[in-house]
Amino acid sequence: MTALQAVRGTRDLIGEDHRRYKHVVDTARDVAATYGFDEWATPIFEDTRVFARTLGDTSDVVTKEMYRFTDRGGEDVTLRPEGTAGVCRALVSNGLTQSLPIKVFYAGPMFRYERPQKGRYRQFHQIGAELIGPSEPLADAEVIACGWDIQVALGISEGVTLEVNTLGDRESRDAYRAALVAYFSAHKEALSQESQDRLVRNPMRILDSKDEADRRIVTDAPTIGPYLTEAAAGFYMRLMDHLGRFGVPFRENPRIVRGLDYYSHTAFEFVTTRLGAQGTVMAGGRYDGLVEEMGGPPTPAVGWAAGIERLSMLLTEDRPAPRGIVVVPVGDAAEAAALDVLQSLRHAGLRAEIGYRGNLKRRMERASKTGARAAVILGDAEVARGVAQVKNLDTGDQAEVALGEIAAHFR
Ligand code: ATP
Ligand code: MG
Repeated sequence: MTALQAVRGTRDLIGEDHRRYKHVVDTARDVAATYGFDEWATPIFEDTRVFARTLGDTSDVVTKEMYRFTDRGGEDVTLRPEGTAGVCRALVSNGLTQSLPIKVFYAGPMFRYERPQKGRYRQFHQIGAELIGPSEPLADAEVIACGWDIQVALGISEGVTLEVNTLGDRESRDAYRAALVAYFSAHKEALSQESQDRLVRNPMRILDSKDEADRRIVTDAPTIGPYLTEAAAGFYMRLMDHLGRFGVPFRENPRIVRGLDYYSHTAFEFVTTRLGAQGTVMAGGRYDGLVEEMGGPPTPAVGWAAGIERLSMLLTEDRPAPRGIVVVPVGDAAEAAALDVLQSLRHAGLRAEIGYRGNLKRRMERASKTGARAAVILGDAEVARGVAQVKNLDTGDQAEVALGEIAAHFR
């Protein structure tokens, strides 16, 4: 039989890969907690409408990337491609729209049918933060500052740049859209087929095109600045003021539009040149219309999501593998005592293992191979005296310790 493989675009997280994953999530969770975020876990699959309705009919995610299927009971369900829609659905389903503000942190797998490449998978993982309720730009700044502090805590902020933009309010966006349609219509023949379609359905999306020819035309496209209403421009100025006060470095990039349709005002990305083509590490913005789309009351909200794989790749140092203590009985009488010692170590919170078989030499070889930091060696004669040999496997130092004192010896 041929050996089965992981499905294309999925990866096993083992050893160093998993330690990095865990370090990213643990660090992010701790930093988010200092900002008052609580962790939620929502289902990995949802009614397809949760995504189809809210991500917008024209987003790439909805049109091309969703893992969507009909289950055995005939329900149309989709593996979540992102976290925000599920959080908003949960907010409404659980009747929490009257308990705002709510600050949610989450971490977990997401699924998109994309062409796999470095930093781009079909099952990938995200951390994310959502601040639901406040409409003030201070909320946007806090959410961004939290994302920045996570990257500082991970030691990766050096090579990462925050780029911010505003998508304005409805009125600004309508005026800007008209200007974009006029501009791109004049260059229609040179646009990719896909962008010619976007011109009809969602012209702002052309700004985000990865096509070479499109990118040349986008260079001279109008920016939103002149089309902003006074209120929208004021919002953006206050956001940038707050970011300055929080000490978060940023630069403006008028080309940032988010991949999903539900954003307004703030849009931002943390980008790096260290990951090749997949340069966006963390991305987010304000999505004031989404909770209402989900059947709740009009509710302002702002948040971000970051790819854990991309954050992991940026970590500059390997995470140390855990090092335990190995218990080595030599002789039959010693084995019973060894089990007592083993459990006393574990119950004291120490990582401890026992070799299952072999003579002293083999068990010691195996102990150093697993990276154990110490060995507790119990011979029959020593056990009879109520002691064991504790050997430091780094220095080779050895000491005789009373059986009842071994856990204390390590602490
Ligand atoms: P991209 O332009 O790279 O496709 P996106 O706009 O689709 O990104 P978002 O929906 O904003 O991405 O998701 C937020 C973050 O999740 C991204 O910045 C990236 O770090 C990560 N991400 C998105 N899609 C993938 C994927 N297929 N594999 C790995 N990470 C991903
Ligand atoms: Mg994408």
